[in-house]
Amino acid sequence: MRAVSYVRNNTVEVQEKPVPEIEADEVLLKVSGAGLCHSDLHIIAGGDDSPLVGSTLGHEVAGVVEKTGDAATGWDVGDSALVALVLSCGECDKCLAGRDNECEVASPRGSLAPLSPGIGSPGGMAEYLAVKTHHLDPLGDLDPATSAPLADAALTPMHAVNSVRDRLVGGATVVTIGIGGLGHVGLQILSATTGARIIALDTDKDKVDYAASHGADVALVSDADAASRIMEETNGRGADVVLDFVGVQPTVDLALSVIGVGGAIRFVGLGGGKFTYDADSSALPWGVNIERSYGGTRSDMREAVALVQQGKLHVETTKYSLDDAARAFDDLRDGKVSGRIVLVP
Ligand SMILES: [Zn+2]
Ligand SMILES: [Zn+2]
Repeated sequence: MRAVSYVRNNTVEVQEKPVPEIEADEVLLKVSGAGLCHSDLHIIAGGDDSPLVGSTLGHEVAGVVEKTGDAATGWDVGDSALVALVLSCGECDKCLAGRDNECEVASPRGSLAPLSPGIGSPGGMAEYLAVKTHHLDPLGDLDPATSAPLADAALTPMHAVNSVRDRLVGGATVVTIGIGGLGHVGLQILSATTGARIIALDTDKDKVDYAASHGADVALVSDADAASRIMEETNGRGADVVLDFVGVQPTVDLALSVIGVGGAIRFVGLGGGKFTYDADSSALPWGVNIERSYGGTRSDMREAVALVQQGKLHVETTKYSLDDAARAFDDLRDGKVSGRIVLVP
């Protein structure tokens, strides 16, 4: 089968690899689509000696069951399925507490990222993938090709929003930064499921326009005046919640400069931004809660899929043939695509 392999620093190639054998508790999924994420660019920038060199990429995967293992109950040939982002064990204390995105087995302290398809386990940018049934979620009538990005691009913002849901009541203000792959989904989730007033920002004018027509109460170009505009919009109080889907230095600085007393910041994007905590400074207001948000739980996943099925959430996608993977990576790096790229085998 054809599979997109990380061959050396910043380089992917479509290679011929064997169709995987399945274990008794697995299905063979015929991949319908695999989303291409900014973190894939991050992964392949890991150099020529990364432990992931040689592996098949792709952590947003959906497809159709082609074959079932002897103990793979609950799934039939022809069923559409979405593959979990985190290949959690299902049995550790975190998994049993419903925090499977922090699974102690899949995500030991110090790991680059939890074990996922395409990150330590074969990924979905291929014609076939072997998946354990407990890592599959049903898609029903949804198109599995365009649903692939739900595994991360919808899961991750769903989790970030759910982690601050009790704060997003009527009268609260949420600032959401970045209207790209994850951010445009986060905006729709905020709009569809919370009563908060939404201030959305992006550096790209087209994305600001998208935000204005997809649920933002205030849509701003993220420039040098953004922080003062947000403070004006919140009557000097600052925001109750800031979601940073970008994580570059200007957005990290913006999040910290507009968060209100007792507010919550969720850093989601991995753009290389940094901040220093100063215990004696009033720069960070009292009571602020900061979380480095990762992925989401299986419950978040089910909730995001349900929103799509109800027509309340739509992930913008652009399809590329799997054979054009190298071009797709280049186009994503060059910012040439709108919506999430889906590679179709
Ligand atoms: Zn991702
Ligand atoms: Zn676990």
